[in-house]
Amino acid sequence: MTACAVCPRTAPDGQRLCLLCADDVRGWLAELPGQAELLAAEFLTPGAAPRQGRIGGTGRAHSPVPVDLRVLVLLAPGHPGPVGDPADDTDPSVPIHAFLAGWAGHIAYTYPAVHRDPHGTAHTQPCEQAWPAKGRTITAWCTWHTAYLPYTLTLPAAAGLHEQLGDLVHRLRGLTHTEPRAHPRAAPCPQCDSFALLRTDGRWHIHCTDCGHNLTPDDYDQHADAYRHTLQEKTASMFELDKIAT
Ligand SMILES: [Zn+2]
Ligand SMILES: [Zn+2]
Repeated sequence: MTACAVCPRTAPDGQRLCLLCADDVRGWLAELPGQAELLAAEFLTPGAAPRQGRIGGTGRAHSPVPVDLRVLVLLAPGHPGPVGDPADDTDPSVPIHAFLAGWAGHIAYTYPAVHRDPHGTAHTQPCEQAWPAKGRTITAWCTWHTAYLPYTLTLPAAAGLHEQLGDLVHRLRGLTHTEPRAHPRAAPCPQCDSFALLRTDGRWHIHCTDCGHNLTPDDYDQHADAYRHTLQEKTASMFELDKIAT
């Protein structure tokens, strides 16, 4: 076990992120295509009212930048910035495509590809390029990143991906006003007893919104079974008491 590069938890052997931070990345990758679609539908379809700031009468020297300009940049094909230059990757104007392709290029470059020369000797060298199997849409890039995630999590760059992907997804949520749907769970939190456990779309873990406790779905199922069992026993003993009282 080693320390998680993002939070105070410990990461599994050979990995840079703990299971929960890895779950963040997996969840954001699952969320990103839908957010991009919403963004395009809301801002780029004919007839959709652009949310422009008020121009004039505000006493400003410059009119505010209309929000759809930021959206246009985010949805532009764009070109990935130079690989390994984190200063470039954190530029909030990096298009989603370029962001995903740039990171895929960086990951692929560190991924050892083995090929045999005509004499049968195996050579290991970095992959030169990342290609998603089905086109190069945002969805295809996210599928690529999800498939390579077990490898990406072993790289020192995993913390940077977590930070930048999180920033990107939160920026998109701010523009689309849409968050992944959360489904309340019936059993209370085993840590704080609040009825505050949620399963969120795209996330593996079940999360307590009160105390921050996290459970795997299996752990939750066991906990919920035990809770149900205790409730049944309590109800049964209440009936017993009723019988004695009457
Ligand atoms: Zn962590
Ligand atoms: Zn809790």
